[in-house]
Amino acid sequence: QEKVPSDIEIAMEQTPKPILHLAQEVGLLPDELESYGKYKAKVELSVLERLNHRKNGKYVVISGITPTPLGEGKSTTTIGLSQAIAAHLGRPAFACVRQPSQGPTFGIKGGAAGGGYSQVIPMDEFNLHLTGDIHAVTAANNLLAAALDARMFHEATQSDKALYGRLVPAKKGKREFAPLMFKRLQKLGIDKTDPNDLTPGEIQRFARLDVDPQTITWSRVIDTNDRFLRKITIGQGDAEKGHQREAGFDIAVASECMAVLALTTSLQDMRERLGAMVVATSKSGDAITADDLGVGGALAVLLKDAIKPNLMQTLEGTPVFVHAGPFANIAHGNSSILADRVALKLVGSEEGDSPDHVGYVLTEGGFGADMGMEKFCNIKCRVSGLTPDAVVIVSTTRALKMHGGGPEVTPGKPLADTYTKEDLVILKEGTKNLVRHIQNSKKFGLKVVVAVNRFASDTPAELELIREQALIGGADAAVVSNHWAEGGAGARELAEALVTACEGESKFKFLYDLNLPIEEKITIISKEIYGAEGIELSDLAKQQIETYTRQGYSGLPICMAKTQYSFSHDPKLKNAPTGFVIPIRSVRLSAGAGFLYPLLGDMQTMPGLGTRPGFWEVGLDPETGRVVGLF
Ligand code: ADP
Repeated sequence: QEKVPSDIEIAMEQTPKPILHLAQEVGLLPDELESYGKYKAKVELSVLERLNHRKNGKYVVISGITPTPLGEGKSTTTIGLSQAIAAHLGRPAFACVRQPSQGPTFGIKGGAAGGGYSQVIPMDEFNLHLTGDIHAVTAANNLLAAALDARMFHEATQSDKALYGRLVPAKKGKREFAPLMFKRLQKLGIDKTDPNDLTPGEIQRFARLDVDPQTITWSRVIDTNDRFLRKITIGQGDAEKGHQREAGFDIAVASECMAVLALTTSLQDMRERLGAMVVATSKSGDAITADDLGVGGALAVLLKDAIKPNLMQTLEGTPVFVHAGPFANIAHGNSSILADRVALKLVGSEEGDSPDHVGYVLTEGGFGADMGMEKFCNIKCRVSGLTPDAVVIVSTTRALKMHGGGPEVTPGKPLADTYTKEDLVILKEGTKNLVRHIQNSKKFGLKVVVAVNRFASDTPAELELIREQALIGGADAAVVSNHWAEGGAGARELAEALVTACEGESKFKFLYDLNLPIEEKITIISKEIYGAEGIELSDLAKQQIETYTRQGYSGLPICMAKTQYSFSHDPKLKNAPTGFVIPIRSVRLSAGAGFLYPLLGDMQTMPGLGTRPGFWEVGLDPETGRVVGLF
């Protein structure tokens, strides 16, 4: 594999086909396309109506073993497998992946467009601004943040009457409620339509949201790893003196607006979800939403183009949707429902098509299967109503060796011998991690295909050992795949195994019933998926669960905010740990996205830059003007 050039070199060697050609090949009409330059286009949601009569294609989630710093290659496998199905088996196939955040791109991770000969191109456009969706998320998030602080400021500095007079100004001598205000009146149970009819008591309840500053959960966001914004003091200008408060920034993709974008099913649904996002609790204990602040409609306007999936292509000219990129621990870490839905129709079949016509949508769930796959099934599929057919669990020899007791890696230092030479003992021990992910996937009724993502240093005996243990552990198939070095041709056998696994009807089922109490749902995930003995709720978590239950949010699915590096809450517990109890420090609400997220430890929602960030490498080639140094 020394012969394989760098990711960006491979990507730049290939001239992509014009996006209009690709769109035509996958059956999109010119009217359904909005080009962003030559190689990217947004797809209109109207295509869903046009193709509504089609039967969906097969739906496959790509997940992996518990991540290690050695990398597993989930994105690479998603792309390689889609190339194999579409360009080598001759069946329709779409890959659906997340848009990466610029934070990690310039920080430690580099690009996220796949790798080797399995990539999305143009990889620089993929990794940088794409079509501006993350910027739109940032704009929406920060408008809501500004709306909240401004409202608190005005409430603090004005009498009820003055506040009401400004909120409901007289137009041509007549006061009028803005359309969104009727929603608030309804929420307050004030059955009046004429602004002049409100009693002083009603005026006060209407005009004062009365935010309890201690309960604010809405942060500002920016798509840069800027550690110095984690905790800041706002309101230090002369005009805001006396209204300072501690606040903070998260990375843009941690915004609930991003989770909404990923989970929404239509423009109207997105509008409702954005309006329902809760930013704080009032002093009397009510949830305060974006619609209470009057900003839900404006947020939807800011995201009206972002809702359309972005069409791109792989190195082999097969189609990819790149859409949404919610954080994978405090949110659900999956690409958008809408991209999957459109893709499933585009590869779907019509009356009279031969059974061979069935196509495949490969969608990626971030982190290991305990996170990405579990949330894909229990959250994303619950909202979309789509039924997956199979899960592909990506594993590598090196990562399994780390689970089996291999030493930690130090960046910049050569890898220990265990990772570069045959070591069947440590590897066998580490396959316990893979087996637990296989068995977990079976609890959802999914067919399980294990992909062994081949590295140059892997030996035949090692690859065979992983296959053997995966099959003993209950996988429906386990195949070594060489798509990184060979592109789609290297994943042909994996593609064939997946096609076989997807035959027949899906037996998919959810892990828990939404109507169960919050605590019980958390316990089920902890025991069934993580292998924990139970959970331990902090006093704060108990109190929050009580509040959310009282406010009517207990029927939401659970999105565990857990480290990705272990089945447990402790990143040091590798492989397949047992005998641990999961501490739940607190529970938070994403009312618009539609989930509750228990925090199992300190979750970092704003990464920092290290001493030697990836940006040192990045630049423009002075001769060609091309981007260099993304990896
Ligand atoms: P994940 O999606 O699991 O985070 P990626 O697919 O982004 O992983 O891959 C991480 C990195 O590992 C990429 O730079 C990719 O080029 C590299 N990589 C993936 N598979 C292989 C392989 N088989 N051999 C060498 N490098 C690989």
